[in-house]
Order: sequence, then C-alpha cells, then structure tokens
Amino acid sequence: MEPSAVDVASPAAALRPAPERSCVACRRRRPQGEFVRLTRLGGVWTVQTGHRTGRGSYLCADSPACWAEKRLKRHFGAQAGTLSAELIGRFQHGAPLSTKSISTTPTME
Ligand SMILES: [Zn+2]
Repeated sequence: MEPSAVDVASPAAALRPAPERSCVACRRRRPQGEFVRLTRLGGVWTVQTGHRTGRGSYLCADSPACWAEKRLKRHFGAQAGTLSAELIGRFQHGAPLSTKSISTTPTME
C-alpha cells in the first residue's frame, strides 16, 4: 500500500460548516436549521417564523423540554411564560425545522 499523503484538506472540509448556534435553554450546539428562532423587536421577544430580522435567540426545534417556562426564564425573564405557551401551542406536534428540504417540497395532503 502506498503511503499516500493524506489530503491536507480533511473530508470534513468539503462540507461547508453550517453556522452553529446554541440553544438558550440547554446550551446544546447544533446547526442553525435545527432551531426555532426567537427575535426581539422593540423589547419584545416573539417566535420568528418568517425572514430574519433583529436579534435572535435559538431554542431546539425538536425538544419541548427546551420550551419549558423555567428553562426560558433564565434568558427571557418575564416573557418566559408567554413564550413557553406560544411555543407549545404552536409546535406541540413538532416544530417545523427550517431546513430547506421542507420549505421547497410541495407536499399536498
Ligand atoms: Zn435545547
């Protein structure tokens, strides 16, 4: 076997590193697409579903445990209860991950 010089560029370099974010509830680092994004506008945090504006914070999209009020309190303070209710109300059947494949697949049910 020839001791071929291993590519300096590791296989991982072929993949563009996805921008990582960390969940404000559990601190887990994950690709941005696996989060629900919350935006602060005018001092009020809202669950963001459309385009990105303003400051953002991220919560695991697939982990309802991360939407619990007590876990949000650390980051969102007095708004934790409202946000928790909104997240659970909206995403209790699973948050739509903001991956491109979902938004570009025209599924008709
Ligand atoms: Zn989390």
